Amino acid sequence: MKTKIVFSEKCLGYGTWHVEGPQRVKLAHEILRENGYEFLEPAPAEEDDLMRVHDVDYLWNLRKGLVEDSDTPAYDNIFEIARLSAGGALLAAQTCGFSLMRPPGHHAGVFGAALGVCTRGFCYLNNIAIAVKASGKKTLILDIDGHHGNGTQEIFQGDPKVHYVSVHRHPHYPGTGFNTEGNCVNFSLPADCGERRYLETLDQAVNAIERQRFEVVAVSAGFDTYSGDLASLGLTEKSYFEIGKRIAMLKRKTFFVLEGGYIGEKVGRSIDQLIKGFES
Ligand SMILES: [Zn+2]
Repeated sequence: MKTKIVFSEKCLGYGTWHVEGPQRVKLAHEILRENGYEFLEPAPAEEDDLMRVHDVDYLWNLRKGLVEDSDTPAYDNIFEIARLSAGGALLAAQTCGFSLMRPPGHHAGVFGAALGVCTRGFCYLNNIAIAVKASGKKTLILDIDGHHGNGTQEIFQGDPKVHYVSVHRHPHYPGTGFNTEGNCVNFSLPADCGERRYLETLDQAVNAIERQRFEVVAVSAGFDTYSGDLASLGLTEKSYFEIGKRIAMLKRKTFFVLEGGYIGEKVGRSIDQLIKGFES
């Protein structure tokens, strides 16, 4: 296996009572270690990296613990942990790896909650956006989390260097992403639609991409599409193998950043299948 996993145990130190809790990543890490993956340790993202994506006042308030909503608590020290998670995405981009870090990021917009949504959906800093902006490269962001990445869409709406493609469940949280808007192309699917319909839609999404326009593919890798998870589309482990094969067909430098997926052992096995499909 060539794809390395970016991980730090420091991301396990908060939120044991929350659905976005440490077990989801801890169990995934154990499974990937047992499967023989190599690991890389990230460093926190620099201030400049954060400021290319987020508003200065939002960052100041986040650092001071002043931003909280019903999904997204102001944990002690969360700013530093979120910076490390963003650093995981930066390292994954540099090494074509997979960042297995939390908190996730794709609901965090420029000012926090994005596109008129009331909460940040467990997200503090938009990790994948921070990595894409830092690279400065023409990038396709493929968001396979079961929720629409409203933060990522807000950040890159109208950006000539970036194309955002999302396949997600609708109607569902955050309620955005029903329509395609310019460089942000959205495909919505009903709850528990199943693997066949999902893959047909993903094929449609991938076939519409002019891949010669992009140097890099950045994957917002969420696994809450797994059957029974928070945004279930009725997928199973072998669905992620198929998804990985389709991402490889884009034939570009590719990196992956963990978003959702709340059943730890399923997240671990799904990541393994996604990477095996991608490398097959
Ligand atoms: Zn999600």
